[in-house]
Amino acid sequence: MRSLLTKGSDVSSVNHRFYLGLRQIIQATFKYFIIATLHYGWAAETLAESFFDKDFYHKAYGIPKEQAYDHYNQKGAQLGNRPNHWLDISAETTGAETPLLQYARQSTQKLEQVCAKAWDFIVAGAGFAGSTVARHFADAGYSVLVIDKRPYVGGNAHDLYDEHGVLIHLHGPHIFHTNSKDVLEFLSRFTTWRFYEHRVRSVVDIADGKTYPMPINRTTLNELYGLDLKTPEECQEYLDSVKVPCTEIRNSEDVVLSLVGSDLCDKFFRNYTAKQWGGLDLKDLSPEVLRRIPTRTNTDDRYFADTYQMMPADGYTAMFKRMLDHPGITTLCGYDYLSVQNSLSCGHLIFTGAIDSFFNYQFGPLPYRSLRFEFEHLPETSHYQEVGTVNYPNNYDFTRITEFKHLTGQVHAGTTLLREYPTDVNAEREPLYPVLSAENNEALQRYQVLAVSREDVTFIGRLAEFKYYNMDQVTDAALRKAGEILQKKKKITEEV
Ligand code: FAD
Ligand code: UDP
Repeated sequence: MRSLLTKGSDVSSVNHRFYLGLRQIIQATFKYFIIATLHYGWAAETLAESFFDKDFYHKAYGIPKEQAYDHYNQKGAQLGNRPNHWLDISAETTGAETPLLQYARQSTQKLEQVCAKAWDFIVAGAGFAGSTVARHFADAGYSVLVIDKRPYVGGNAHDLYDEHGVLIHLHGPHIFHTNSKDVLEFLSRFTTWRFYEHRVRSVVDIADGKTYPMPINRTTLNELYGLDLKTPEECQEYLDSVKVPCTEIRNSEDVVLSLVGSDLCDKFFRNYTAKQWGGLDLKDLSPEVLRRIPTRTNTDDRYFADTYQMMPADGYTAMFKRMLDHPGITTLCGYDYLSVQNSLSCGHLIFTGAIDSFFNYQFGPLPYRSLRFEFEHLPETSHYQEVGTVNYPNNYDFTRITEFKHLTGQVHAGTTLLREYPTDVNAEREPLYPVLSAENNEALQRYQVLAVSREDVTFIGRLAEFKYYNMDQVTDAALRKAGEILQKKKKITEEV
């Protein structure tokens, strides 16, 4: 994975292709395995060309891309299209198993093993929601299979060292903050922490390049307008003089206007929001989106005000690995639960992926937003910017630049930056943000009704519950729901 990360490359897309390719090889092998076990004989099947990943084949076997599909079919035919003919091709072409092939082979064997077992719980997704419930169940003595379609654990909080040795967050910057002692105590079983308070500054106009504290505080107002507000009271008086009174808060525009008025709204929020939410106006978004951003009359310039603010000392992935390291938990990465569900058996399923995907989009796709991540490494640069994140509300197609070394405290001669470009969801861009608007409620409610009717499944997490959850909120929800499920299970056992 590390060698795939290059300066300015679109890591999300490279990574996506990488695991799509990996998935295809595993799925192809798996398909043959199922066919064989169903006694249909060793069928001569090939992948349709539209599903064939030429890039992956080229990387894995060194065959030129334009010849890849023909090569795959010819070799497959020569080798009798046996169930593992991908593996045979590799051995014949390269004379050795590539790491990817070794992974595929091990993974196939593991899949055979997990298909053979009846699990107490299967958990689809190894992010905060899935890993938290899995550990909770395993601690209570149950057998748990955690299955994630990505080739790694941690969900969107997954981190890794890039090819320059800088610790980065592959799916965007993740800063841990919470007011919940329970959540902190639970996670502290799997990590120590590094104290870190995130700071964000905003460039209103790149022509002057000046940065201002975000969220808006007294310093922001003094520096932006040349004021000399000395106390919270003076600051509040100023905000009262510019705010637009609003009797009922119906949407995110009402939230902002009723706090800071139209000039600050236009400078800091309107265009950032349009970029992030694909042209949606503040008016179109539910109040809770902009309620995430406070306005302060003091000079506190921290992005979050929570009691506990910190980063896992060895990173998120290390924390997740420890959480899932339990004799009762088996983790299988690189498989989409929905593709293999018919071969698996369990007492109860926890689904943490997108709720509409689980129900095969029968009421249409729910609106989610995605991001394209562009990483850049600057060698021999201690730091690029003064704080962890700088927002660009009014310029560029990206919303913000994050410099990971601020977040992680890593000491390194160079530094790695991340620019986030908001995009629609498509084949290459996974859903990352639920779009919260009154308009979407109807479809969501129909899916929620279906979800409630499925007593054998519990939906937990940001995409499964369609909630704009932070990491700690997901962990909290997962702990609560896992507790409820165990209580119910205990009651049923007692009754029996
Ligand atoms: P996810 O992390 O999305 O995990 C779900 C997992 O399920 C994924 O690994 C996915 O591959 C897997 N999956 C989905 N469908 C299937 C399937 N069919 N079969 C198998 N596996 C499947 N929160 C904070 O507290 N602080 C931050 O600073 C912060 N920054 C963020 C920045 C960005 C850019 C984004 C997008 C989010 C940020 N968050 C932050 C929110 C945080 O990412 C989420 O709250 C948290 O990751 C949600 O955990 P989850 O387990 O619900 O979902
Ligand atoms: N927002 C904005 N300007 C900013 C920061 C945030 O308009 O400088 C709005 C924007 O609509 C964004 C929302 O507030 O989507 C929530 O911001 P947050 O930083 O919480 O977003 P996340 O970190 O979840 O991407």
